[in-house]
Amino acid sequence: MQELLREMENYAAAQGVPIIRAQEHEIFVRAVQAAAPQHILEIGTAIGYSALLLAYYSPETAEILTMEKDERRMREAASFLGQSPLQKKIRVLPGDAGETLARLSADPAYQGYFDFVFIDAAKGQYPDYLQKILPMLADRAVILSDNVLFRGYVLSEEKPPRRYKTIVKRLRAYLTMLDGLGGQTKIYENGDGLAVTAFRRNDYAG
Ligand code: SAH
Ligand code: MG
Repeated sequence: MQELLREMENYAAAQGVPIIRAQEHEIFVRAVQAAAPQHILEIGTAIGYSALLLAYYSPETAEILTMEKDERRMREAASFLGQSPLQKKIRVLPGDAGETLARLSADPAYQGYFDFVFIDAAKGQYPDYLQKILPMLADRAVILSDNVLFRGYVLSEEKPPRRYKTIVKRLRAYLTMLDGLGGQTKIYENGDGLAVTAFRRNDYAG
């Protein structure tokens, strides 16, 4: 397992794939262990690195549904995950996550289903992802959101460069949404900003 993880880290570094950063690793792992989730949803598989961590640190009976739209990344993930027996806990759903989420959330089987969510795909789509995920959350769930500080621009007074304006605006709206969930959100500044939210449906006004 450690060897496979090292191999993936090296591959990601060489290919410029933005996998979960070393500084976030411990927070990520602790959140998974503390939650001991059964039904995990991940948005943004890339090469399968965080999916493998989710599989390794969750209970044996847990399952991970992960979404990826890039075919090349999907192939890489399949090839890495195929080297681990943990692969049997993981299912990769191809295609645009916004569309896949819309499909899943229309399925009654997924109402109140997921107790752990890791959001790590298109930063400008986070509000849309969360909107679609909400009905699929269990009464108690943990939401991890990566890159919410986006190079420091999200909480900065300074104007972001033009090309990041929309992303930064949407991530700010996203943090406001997280605050409105009733649970608690803690933002770790390690890496690019990792938000850990404890969702409680009872405290959520809708
Ligand atoms: N979670 C991974 C890293 C994900 S990088 C890890 O830590 O190991 C972000 C990934 O999201 C990329 O592979 C990118 O192709 C994917 N992605 C971006 N937009 C997407 C979308 N709309 N639907 C599905 N996947 C998307
Ligand atoms: Mg990320």
